Amino acid sequence: MSLCDDTLLCNFTKCRTKLSGFAWVTACSHIFCDQHGSGEFSRSPAICPACSSALSGKLDIVRTELSPSEEYKAMVLAGLRPDIILDISARAMAFWSYQVHQEHMYQEYNMSRAEAQLKQMEKVLTQQNHSRELELSAMRGEITSLKKVMEEYKRKYSEVSERLMERNRQYQKLQGLYDSLRLRNMVVGVGERDMLLQPGHHSFKSGMNNLNLMPLRVKGVGSNLTVNVLFLAVNNEQQRGVHSNASEVKQLPERRKAKVRQ
Ligand SMILES: [Zn+2]
Ligand SMILES: [Zn+2]
Repeated sequence: MSLCDDTLLCNFTKCRTKLSGFAWVTACSHIFCDQHGSGEFSRSPAICPACSSALSGKLDIVRTELSPSEEYKAMVLAGLRPDIILDISARAMAFWSYQVHQEHMYQEYNMSRAEAQLKQMEKVLTQQNHSRELELSAMRGEITSLKKVMEEYKRKYSEVSERLMERNRQYQKLQGLYDSLRLRNMVVGVGERDMLLQPGHHSFKSGMNNLNLMPLRVKGVGSNLTVNVLFLAVNNEQQRGVHSNASEVKQLPERRKAKVRQ
């Protein structure tokens, strides 16, 4: 607001409206809009709402027209000596410049307060950014250490799985060996028992002729076992063959009898 601005503002703190029409001017160099002036100065004693000065004099408060008519302007200072006219004008100019200065001070105060708030907010923002950066770096560190831990676990896992596979291979090998040994023992046991039960002579060859069995082949087991398995099979088959032959012999006369009857 410069000296040439053509309007003053109401000095009532919460109003600050641009003045027009009529205004209330005080001896303590304050000015109010018609609403606030008429409201505040209707009480007695009158107190300035801007500076709390007591305004008890007859001309301490004046209600003045801000855009006076040409007739008023022509008559209000007419007849006065030039020094009085200039004195009145100088006092009126001093009032105006005081108002402009006050407004300037008020705006500067507002600006400094806004700047202080801005600085405070910037400070808070900087602190927040700093703490965020600290948190971020801490989290990055945590991620790095967790990655290391994960790598360690991965390495351990691959080691353990490799060991497990090795154990599995060993287990399979042992299981194969165990199975072959068990089979061998079983075959040998059965063979010996059969030999004890049937001491009579029988040829291995004739037994083979009665069989349609293929020789068993057990992986990882020597030819001795194959021979033993075949031996067992032959014995069993011969036993069955003897029985079936005997029943056939028994049945033969019956069939012939039946044929004769027919
Ligand atoms: Zn006002
Ligand atoms: Zn005042």
